[in-house]
Amino acid sequence: MTYRGRFAPSPTGQLHFGSLVAAVGSWLCARHAGGQWLLRMEDIDPPREVAGAAAGILATLPAFGLVADEPALFQSQRLAAYDAAFGQLQANGMIFPCTCSRSELAGSGGIHRDGKCVGSAQAGRTPAWRLRVPEVEVCFEDAVQGPQCDNLRELVGDFVIRRADGHYSYQLACVVDDARQGITEVVRGQDLLDSTARQIWLQRCLDLPTPAYRHLPVVLDAEGSKLSKSTQAWPLDPRDPTPALRRALAFLGRPLPDRVIDAQGLLSHALADFDPSRLPQCSGNSSA
Ligand code: GLU
Repeated sequence: MTYRGRFAPSPTGQLHFGSLVAAVGSWLCARHAGGQWLLRMEDIDPPREVAGAAAGILATLPAFGLVADEPALFQSQRLAAYDAAFGQLQANGMIFPCTCSRSELAGSGGIHRDGKCVGSAQAGRTPAWRLRVPEVEVCFEDAVQGPQCDNLRELVGDFVIRRADGHYSYQLACVVDDARQGITEVVRGQDLLDSTARQIWLQRCLDLPTPAYRHLPVVLDAEGSKLSKSTQAWPLDPRDPTPALRRALAFLGRPLPDRVIDAQGLLSHALADFDPSRLPQCSGNSSA
């Protein structure tokens, strides 16, 4: 089976150093395996999106030598597929409408566990839809972070598939699209490790294949917090890509050439004798 990897940014801001690390890491794994590297724009959450960010991300990646093998898939154009998955879950009695408010769930730490709405029905209130999560332990092997086992009911309970505002959740869209794009390995930041058990469970509910997972360490700022697009952290300059690219490659443990070369050359250099099993495991600052 041909390796198919992907980079799946959300257009909540321009590409920043943390997302560059995820993009470069997934690109290296795909190219090392002689496979394809795909792009997916996760633009399904308009309230969180920043105008121009999707176009900005798509224009920035090639400047860093990161060129996808297929046209980008836009989640905003995939609603029919999410509707179909939602319908499948509904037909199989796996989801339920829920009008619980935050305060009604405060007693259980915000977690919903009963497989049916425990909130007071409020006339006119649009429900969110949750997946019924039974007592189940989801185990998988993460290629960087090692073996993982999550008791889903304990950890997240009945999680939201479609929000009350009508938008589908990241979990549903991600699972449907990883299957649609034929992704064989998901390489992304460690901050998404705790979404993985939910996604594997959803794959089982929807009868979709489960890819392999490899969660890269995340870049932390000086205060030890994750760099995030929404805090405008460390924007990248597509006109001068090599300093940030060198730093991203160093963060991923790749040796850097002494001589000055362009982005394409840096990536080729980093790919020579790249070994995915030697990617670093722990998050930290970028010091290079
Ligand atoms: N869209 C997510 C983000 O930008 C990444 C999703 C994924 O790689 O599964 O954080």
